[in-house]
Amino acid sequence: MNAPVFDNSYARLPQRMFAPVRPMGSPDPQLLALNAPLAQRLGLDPDWLAGPEGLAMLSGNALPPGAAGIAQAYAGQQFGHLVPQLGDGRALMIGEVVAPDGARFDLQLKGSGPTPFSRQGDGLSWLGPVLREYLVSEFMAAAGVPTTRALAAVATGGIVRRESRLPGAILTRVASSHIRVGTFEYFALRGDCEALRALTEHAGTRHFPQAETPAEFLSAVVAAQARLIALWMGLGFVHGVMNTDNMAVSGETIDYGPCAFLDEYQPDKVFSSIDRGGRYAYDQQPHVAVWNLAQLASCLIPLLDEDEDAAVAEATRIVHAYPQLFEVERDRVFAAKLGLQPSDTARNLVARLLEQMAEEAADFTRVFAGLSDGSARAQFRDTARFDVWEQDWRAAAPEQDIMSRANPRRIPRNHRIEAAIAAAVGGDTAPFDRLRAALSDPFADREEWDDLAAAPLASERVTRTFCGT
Ligand code: AMP
Ligand code: MG
Ligand code: MG
Repeated sequence: MNAPVFDNSYARLPQRMFAPVRPMGSPDPQLLALNAPLAQRLGLDPDWLAGPEGLAMLSGNALPPGAAGIAQAYAGQQFGHLVPQLGDGRALMIGEVVAPDGARFDLQLKGSGPTPFSRQGDGLSWLGPVLREYLVSEFMAAAGVPTTRALAAVATGGIVRRESRLPGAILTRVASSHIRVGTFEYFALRGDCEALRALTEHAGTRHFPQAETPAEFLSAVVAAQARLIALWMGLGFVHGVMNTDNMAVSGETIDYGPCAFLDEYQPDKVFSSIDRGGRYAYDQQPHVAVWNLAQLASCLIPLLDEDEDAAVAEATRIVHAYPQLFEVERDRVFAAKLGLQPSDTARNLVARLLEQMAEEAADFTRVFAGLSDGSARAQFRDTARFDVWEQDWRAAAPEQDIMSRANPRRIPRNHRIEAAIAAAVGGDTAPFDRLRAALSDPFADREEWDDLAAAPLASERVTRTFCGT
């Protein structure tokens, strides 16, 4: 059995970029889930992780030799309001590992106790958000969306005080890095060009080695976000809290707080209870991404050109590429959902289908999955209108194998996640385990999981989500 080997490159950056932290420890840790395939992908030993030393690490009871034990500093624009200091308030970076293929990953404990960035928070997490992030992030990975991953979920045996007393838990999150737009904002706000330069260099080397200049780095981030948001749109995913501290420059989805998937297709759908203005509604996400990328661009201005006017022009040019890049990605994603290559015909078919879906509040996932097995028609009331569309679509010669890889049959439906969490709080983790298995292969048509593919009944529908920490 082998302990992880760490190589902590972030911790070698200037010390003001993070704070050393010790985890609080768990009184009676219990491993709820271990992601063995992910462990293998990272070059970690699943048997070690499941053993006593592994559990000690995953529960924050003992960091192994070579671990970093740091909390990262970052700022962020929350709902458009600048918060100069956020940082890892309930997260602790264990360290970085380099996988057999050379890819570098952060291992991070989420919910392992206070840090210098905790402000008024307790640094803890209850079971709900841990299981939710596990299910949704692993579904995203299985569906081919760049995302942070879940290596393990541990019940701490401790109690977390929220509106009520709830079981505490820790998620071990894996990311290609935890560097956010807000990390750049933190140093830009402080006029700390040296740290900005080091951060840009570090993030560039890690995520976009082909980018040789800060401008090329920015362009690469813009392109990665265009692709990411298009993939979200194609799954009906609503992130819910796209603050700049929740946008990773790697292009991975990060922060599964109040996120949710559309059941019925409603383009301006909002789930998060704190998003009163609908800033982060489903159809606002591409626009918010541009706003966030403009914040990153303005942080990088001092690095783009010695001449400020030239730097601003360069930053503007790079960010303005986003809408075009996004359209291309979106066309590709949605054409594939119809089994087609991108074209004007495909774009037109997508627009017509989405229009009828919106008018009839049809189930987003079931309509697209139903194109493969003929059940899409049953999702509509105006079947005559659908029939006309279907005839035109068939004439475009859709390919079954493109479609079936683009349209998951099962998504982490809000009501299923909440039921799994409620059961786990009551001590029964079987619904969580079943959902986890069903979502690990979301494209496969499996009868035993048909109930999990179903849309919620009116009485089951969850329309509000919470940041739930
Ligand atoms: P989020 O809304 O999840 O993006 O979190 C925003 C900020 O609040 C981050 O800096 C978090 O680390 C911090 N935070 C959230 N929950 C807690 C908590 N329970 N204790 C300490 N800090 C927290
Ligand atoms: Mg966050
Ligand atoms: Mg969060």
